[in-house]
Amino acid sequence: MGEGIDLTVGPNPDSVLMLTPSEILEYVFCPRFTFFLNVLRISQKEEKRYKVRKGRELHGRRSRKNPGYLRKRLGVVKRWTDVYLASPSLHARGIVDEVLELEDGSMAPLDYKMTFPRERPFRTHRVQLALYGLLIADAWQRPVRRGYLVYTRGGNSVCPIDLTDRDFKRVRRTIGEVIDIIANGHLPARTRFPQRCLDCCYANICV
Ligand code: SF4
Repeated sequence: MGEGIDLTVGPNPDSVLMLTPSEILEYVFCPRFTFFLNVLRISQKEEKRYKVRKGRELHGRRSRKNPGYLRKRLGVVKRWTDVYLASPSLHARGIVDEVLELEDGSMAPLDYKMTFPRERPFRTHRVQLALYGLLIADAWQRPVRRGYLVYTRGGNSVCPIDLTDRDFKRVRRTIGEVIDIIANGHLPARTRFPQRCLDCCYANICV
């Protein structure tokens, strides 16, 4: 994170910039999303893809289930649903679908995805899980070593994901990069994946 950057927002010096998972994932999708959305404040068009994908996932949340046998299989001791967590030191906040306390004393995030199961999770899903892991570790002061994705299409299929220091460092670095763009207002590089530009809502102004 850039040294000397003022990370407070508004006239109250205690109001710290707090990023949402969407703001962080938009950056992962393409760093320029952060510039257009958070610096120039040009909103995305609803019909465009990234928004639509998020909408589908929100719909998936509404229809989610977490049957008892699943919790038993994961060794869950206690479970909290729709937990709002915020960490000023992380500059992040968000609502975690489920926070799990596991038999070994560690904690884990569980997140529902309205997609078919995947052998390798999307990068954005992994980043989101690691972000929730950091928020949980901060709030409970307990270790987080794994998270779970539940793919709701084709049944509730559970994908356990080991969360490592590398994952957590990557999330912290990503948050720092998002904040740098917002604080300094500089135009970041384009995404490394040109196919993402094909149906991007900013394509006509992104040169
Ligand atoms: S057109 Fe491409 S580089 Fe520009 S914001 Fe969209 S995805 Fe990113």
